[in-house]
Amino acid sequence: MPLTFERKLPIILFFVFLMLTTVGVLFYQNTISLQDAIAWQRHSQEVVARVDETVGLAFEIQMSMTNFMLISNESYLTPFERAKPKIRQNIDRLRVLTADNADQLAEVNRIDQVLKEYNGEVARKIDVRKMGGPDVAGTELVWSEGKTMLDQIRASGERVKAIQVQSQQARDQRGDRRFTITVWVLIVSSLAGIISLGLANLTVLSEIRKRRAAQTKLLEVNEGLERNVEQRTVELKDANERLVEIGHERESILSSEKEARREAEIANRLRDEFMASVSHELRTPLNSILGWARLMKGGTLDENQSEKALTTIIKNSETQNRLIEDLLDVARVISGKLQLEMVDIDAAEVVSQAIETVRPAANAKKVRIELTENVSTSAIVSGDHDRLVQIFTNLLGNALKFSHDNSTIHVSVETISDAVVTKIRDEGKGISPEFLPMVFERFRQDVTNKSNNGGLGLGLAIVRNLVEMHHGSVRAESSGENKGATFTVSLPLNKPTHRDESILEL
Ligand code: ADP
Repeated sequence: MPLTFERKLPIILFFVFLMLTTVGVLFYQNTISLQDAIAWQRHSQEVVARVDETVGLAFEIQMSMTNFMLISNESYLTPFERAKPKIRQNIDRLRVLTADNADQLAEVNRIDQVLKEYNGEVARKIDVRKMGGPDVAGTELVWSEGKTMLDQIRASGERVKAIQVQSQQARDQRGDRRFTITVWVLIVSSLAGIISLGLANLTVLSEIRKRRAAQTKLLEVNEGLERNVEQRTVELKDANERLVEIGHERESILSSEKEARREAEIANRLRDEFMASVSHELRTPLNSILGWARLMKGGTLDENQSEKALTTIIKNSETQNRLIEDLLDVARVISGKLQLEMVDIDAAEVVSQAIETVRPAANAKKVRIELTENVSTSAIVSGDHDRLVQIFTNLLGNALKFSHDNSTIHVSVETISDAVVTKIRDEGKGISPEFLPMVFERFRQDVTNKSNNGGLGLGLAIVRNLVEMHHGSVRAESSGENKGATFTVSLPLNKPTHRDESILEL
């Protein structure tokens, strides 16, 4: 399993630390050894110097004694006197310096022993010379033992020095070996340290590269995540908006359903009312007809009464006929069987015919009908003659029904642009603003209008249907109750014949 950076780096640094510690320890040891070596060098030099000086002093003593013997001058004894303490000093010091080496120490002791004897003999000879004069000088100077002693001193001194040199050389060799080993250890440690540092450097660099790559990858992943989050946010927003839309759609479906249900309920109610009205409207004139017919059959009526009975029977029959006609028209429209015989017709003439149809009834109510024509010579429309007359008769009939006695119905026919516009304005009951929008709907009657009798609420629905089958339009206006009403029919001028089959829903 490859080592992780966190484990590898401390191991490498530990190696570096180990190498540096080794180098440090070796340096320390070497410094100590060097100090030792220098101390031993000084030590050896001092041993050699003190041995040489001691041997030299022995010879100075011999020279001093010889000179005094020959010349007997006290001043020649000065070197002898000076040498004695120095020799003592050197011997003491040499004992200390050679304490670690028994052979050397033995030789030093020997030098000391011989020198003591030599100095004692020299002192005795000097005394003899002082007392015996020049004659004793010759005999005293012949002293072969003195020479032997001096040779012994020199020989011992040489041995001390030789031992010292030998030991110094051995130390030097050991020092050289240690130095060589130290140098190699240093080279190896330094190389190992450098390699370890290089490794550490490579490890750190590779880790930095790895971490940079990981960081870049992380940044990319982050950016990707951010993009994803943005995309998801947009999608969520869209989904949310869609949900809100669905909510609205549901609400609108619900409200349309409610509206449809309400309309269905209204339609059902209107149908029920219609059935009741139809029965009532049909039964009322029939009752009147039946009543008068029975009276006539009884033969009890005089001439005047018979006349009135016949008039009433005829009027009620006409009313009933109209009702049945209306019902049949509606049935035709619903079953799609209402067909138009389209021909070119003078619109003003059709309106005049309709006026003449309602004129007797208007006269009976003392209602005037005023016709204003402002038509071009070519006020020709394409239409079914009888159905056009029916449209205007219905509108005029309503105007008359809701007009007060002695009032006027204003009828105008004019060509406006490419249409013939017919307006029928009465001064009667008017239409309430609430009922006005529904005035053309089937079975609709303004129940608040007291003049509203003898109808089924089908007339205007039939009118709108017929007008639209003629590709025209019809609209109702009223300024309110008792302010009259105006119905405007607009039919297209001189259109090609539409013998159609265009059946519109009421
Ligand atoms: P109906 O055959 O019962 O009269 P219509 O469809 O012709 O039915 O008329 C529907 C309703 O419109 C009437 O019951 C009446 O309330 C109103 N209406 C129609 N024409 C007029 C008018 N000229 N003045 C006032 N109200 C009118």
